[in-house]
Amino acid sequence: MVTIDQAGSLPLERPCKKCNKQEATHVSRTEAVCPDCFTQYIYSKGVRQIGIVGKETQPPHGAPISRRYILGLSLGTSSTVLLHIVNGYVDAIISKGRRSPFDLDVVCVDASISDHPNELLETTLNTYRKRYPSLNLEIIPLFAVLGIPSIDWSALPSLKQDATPAEQLRDLFERLPSATSRADILRLFIRHLLIHTALSRNCQAVLFGHSTTTLGALTLAETAKGRGFSLPWQINDGVLPVEDFSSPPDPSAEKKSIRVHYPLRELYRKELDTYTTLTDPPLADIIPPEEVVDKANAVVSHRDLSIDEVMDKYFADVEENYPSIVANVVRTTAKLSRIDAEDRCGICGMTLDELGDERWKGEIGDDAGEAATGRSRLCYGCERSVHG
Ligand SMILES: [Zn+2]
Ligand SMILES: [Zn+2]
Repeated sequence: MVTIDQAGSLPLERPCKKCNKQEATHVSRTEAVCPDCFTQYIYSKGVRQIGIVGKETQPPHGAPISRRYILGLSLGTSSTVLLHIVNGYVDAIISKGRRSPFDLDVVCVDASISDHPNELLETTLNTYRKRYPSLNLEIIPLFAVLGIPSIDWSALPSLKQDATPAEQLRDLFERLPSATSRADILRLFIRHLLIHTALSRNCQAVLFGHSTTTLGALTLAETAKGRGFSLPWQINDGVLPVEDFSSPPDPSAEKKSIRVHYPLRELYRKELDTYTTLTDPPLADIIPPEEVVDKANAVVSHRDLSIDEVMDKYFADVEENYPSIVANVVRTTAKLSRIDAEDRCGICGMTLDELGDERWKGEIGDDAGEAATGRSRLCYGCERSVHG
């Protein structure tokens, strides 16, 4: 059968399985599709999840609509795609003459830990600002994490006296026992800082760009680090209670919580990579090369691999041949229920497994954390990251 293209003249060699109007150039899951149908699929998957966040943050009936979210921008492919999709979604609503469904602060955490402004990061962000002039894009230095109440600072190495915040944070990272520890604490600090910023601005949600692949790698890395118990709190979308470890504790302070969502959770990293080449103009043009992002990331050396990086590379390989395995890891985790416990870990803020943390220690055969004398208890994973 010969299919005729829209112009009515040239027959298509391999018509798109979805629209049948253009040449198929890509494979979307198992179907051969045209570039338009490919990008539409990615966009609609993201938009569906953003719609869910909107529903979950619906103000009470009659109250004025005011939603505010924070989007964590790492300048990698996933968070850039998320930014692009959210921007497209808001633009589409505004172009219909309706008001924007939410206010958005795009926050890029500068992990270079320096007392000087990060010019490389500023230049990169300016490219993003030109591309998305209606969005508010800002840089927050990682050392702004120092002293925030959702972390029990007494459980971490004590901060250097008479030093700038950047020096204090650098010193803290230098005293952590391994590359895995540094990568682990860095990830937790960035997450804490974004959540803290969101709470201080009365935001309802923090959006992260994690793909299925990233969430799968995170699941395995966290399990390997002994934080398996906390997975439903880390991987699933939903409300996250935020502990207050400030001392002395304020009994009148109300319990805080915030929504954390991963709107790209159903998309593979490879699909997002392809997407960045198909948007007009291509997103690939503004995403900085990995070296640029790495340079802004002084505490984790790429010469010694951390568990997170190993899992990340491993999962990128698995996805290549067995994408359904990657999706299953995330889907299975999503079925685990969140068990709420009184006690929360002083560093990652996740619930403590009353017996489980002992069990992890037993099975991994480690007792290095016993000497720790932090005020609050730590989960096995954080114990290892701080004390080795
Ligand atoms: Zn098509
Ligand atoms: Zn922990």
